[in-house]
Amino acid sequence: MIIPFLVSHENSQLPAWLNGWLSPLRQAMPDEQIVPFEALSEADKLACEVAIVANPEPAQLAQLPNLKWVHSVWAGVERMLAELPESDLAVVRLVDPRLANTMAEAVLTWALYLHRLGPQYAQQQSQRVWRALEYVRPERRTIGILGMGELGKCTALRLRGAGFRVMGWSRSGTSVPDVETLSGEAGLREMLAQSDIVVCLLPLTAETRGLLNAEQLARMKPGAAIINFARGPIIDEAALWAALDHGSLGYAVLDVFDQEPLPEDAWFWDHPKVTVLPHCSGPTDRESAAQIVAGNIARFRESGDIPPAVDRQRGY
Ligand code: NAP
Repeated sequence: MIIPFLVSHENSQLPAWLNGWLSPLRQAMPDEQIVPFEALSEADKLACEVAIVANPEPAQLAQLPNLKWVHSVWAGVERMLAELPESDLAVVRLVDPRLANTMAEAVLTWALYLHRLGPQYAQQQSQRVWRALEYVRPERRTIGILGMGELGKCTALRLRGAGFRVMGWSRSGTSVPDVETLSGEAGLREMLAQSDIVVCLLPLTAETRGLLNAEQLARMKPGAAIINFARGPIIDEAALWAALDHGSLGYAVLDVFDQEPLPEDAWFWDHPKVTVLPHCSGPTDRESAAQIVAGNIARFRESGDIPPAVDRQRGY
């Protein structure tokens, strides 16, 4: 049966990007016919019940009247939810253990860099200073994770494995072995006050946009660092700048920004307390993503069951 692949106009102009997805998807679903939206006939458009998407153009989705659900190949679907009109179309996002592992690896890498005083040694080197700083055991460092979903839970376990004390904050207070569980405003305050490193792995929603504002950043432990591998607008960028320059925030490792690609004149690039990463902390593995999408679509073909969808009201 026909399954359209709908992508944003930006990406539909890039044949290499499109083929990079079509090839593993077709391999994982040899019995399905996966075609770019642009190649659909009018009869095909009427036949589609499920589509595979990557930030699709809403006007194209509107041309598929019998669509029951869409499977995103991205884990974060906030842009898509913001652009889609109200409807009961089910949006299923990518949940891939491989992605969670890759993200956990990225957080561990940068947490260790901060823990072993990478920024301080880089600064000493720039001044030709030869000085060993005091070593602190990992169990004496607290890492607070904002968001204990697929990525947050896997990351928490990885950080525990490296010996850190870990706290996890979520809406429902999700529990993970050996991780202190927090929720609500009071829980957030406690986590910010106790963490040496705060890691953001929240989805971008109406509630989390601007969550880390000047007031919350001021609650962080003096000298603490922040790692944002989720979405840029969760942190107020102006407040972050002020907290690094005039407050007591020690360092920020940022993979995501309000505007991406990061403009050439953005202040982050040459700030001495910032590491800029080009949205590379949790890349989707196309092969494993294609296998997961294929499994979900095969179950739908057999049973009619649609996998758990994003809660549009909640925004994730
Ligand atoms: P997820 O499974 O949906 O987990 C979201 C977590 O955030 C849950 O623990 C949820 O709480 C918590 N949460 C949501 N809103 C909250 C609120 N208002 N207050 C407190 N906690 C809240 O999402 P995920 O798969 O872990 O992914 C998280 C985000 O990472 C994605 O949305 C995406 O933006 C980002 N991401 C970034 C990259 C990258 O390369 N930089 C790659 C992939 C994903 P409950 O557990 O109570 O529901």
